[in-house]
Amino acid sequence: MIPPMNDHQLFPTFVVGSLPRPRWVRDVIENRRDGRLSAQEADRLLDSAIPSAVRMQERAGLTYVSDGEWRRESYIKVICEHVDGFKMEAVPSVSRVVMEPAVVSKLRQRGPLAVDAARFLVKATTRKTIVALPSPYILGWRMWHAELSRSAYPTRKEFMDACVPILRAEMRALAGAGVDHIQIDEPWLLMLVDPDHRRRIGATDVEKEIALCVEMVNAVAGAAGDVPTSMHLCHAHFNRQRFSEGGYEPIIEALGEINVTRFAMEFAAPQSHGVDVLARFPKGKILGLGVIDHCDSKVEDPETVVSRVEAALKYLPAERITLNPDCGFSPSTQNPMNFDEAYLKLTAMCRAAESLREKYGREG
Ligand SMILES: [Zn+2]
Repeated sequence: MIPPMNDHQLFPTFVVGSLPRPRWVRDVIENRRDGRLSAQEADRLLDSAIPSAVRMQERAGLTYVSDGEWRRESYIKVICEHVDGFKMEAVPSVSRVVMEPAVVSKLRQRGPLAVDAARFLVKATTRKTIVALPSPYILGWRMWHAELSRSAYPTRKEFMDACVPILRAEMRALAGAGVDHIQIDEPWLLMLVDPDHRRRIGATDVEKEIALCVEMVNAVAGAAGDVPTSMHLCHAHFNRQRFSEGGYEPIIEALGEINVTRFAMEFAAPQSHGVDVLARFPKGKILGLGVIDHCDSKVEDPETVVSRVEAALKYLPAERITLNPDCGFSPSTQNPMNFDEAYLKLTAMCRAAESLREKYGREG
């Protein structure tokens, strides 16, 4: 059975995960990666920084807070920070050729991916907590490359399969650590709707890709046990630009087959083509409605957020709508963004949630 959400208040508010990191925190992560700072010393410094990310979210008024993902270089690189088998290589990404980790030998885990960070977060706040892990499907697309990876894993699918037990064990550990909500990050399912993106990455059979993505997310989702889970979908972003465009129509049916409680979906940005598709949103699922465009430096006022939620209320009852920004504000250290802007945007979102509770709530 898929665990239900147990929020007592309507319109609970979430972050998608990452928050902009101060310059010195980015330096700590990059110095750790380059071997100029030990993991132990980096942890000590991050232990002092992360409470400020937590306090900011509490002040903004969020129901669920994260650690800003400040311990990770990026939302997907969290795997190579704790698992051997990757090498930095110049590889084509969705926007440009970059130095990225490619899998080059069999995976060998050195330590937990996120559970230590999660234990710290749970202790650091009295709010509910959310922790995210990447889906095996996106890891397959981002880290398996035919020439570099074939000797370790002959196919992309074999590498995805090898990620599954690592992610399942981490999901179980996160559940055991007292995390309130676990999210699986999978932007590439939504990106598949864009023919230009499919052409760039060489995804020829879109139906097969959708089925594979569903299989991979389901392979890890159940491991969270009694803890509610989300899947996050978006068009991915870097330097305030998205990498694809298109509405959810081609994938909306598939969401009904995915064994998570909630979908945190990008909707504020025009690139996702509006909320009319929610007429086909799967029964029994909770919507994480993207109401903040993190790429737009203009801070939304609460009235704008309220109107975005009311557009979704035409299709779903208040009990099935939660609020979140379209994406993490800063999914990698290379994508710095602005901490104060994130604070103001989250505050606007939470103020909107308060007025929606007054207007629609039983508990006010
Ligand atoms: Zn995203």
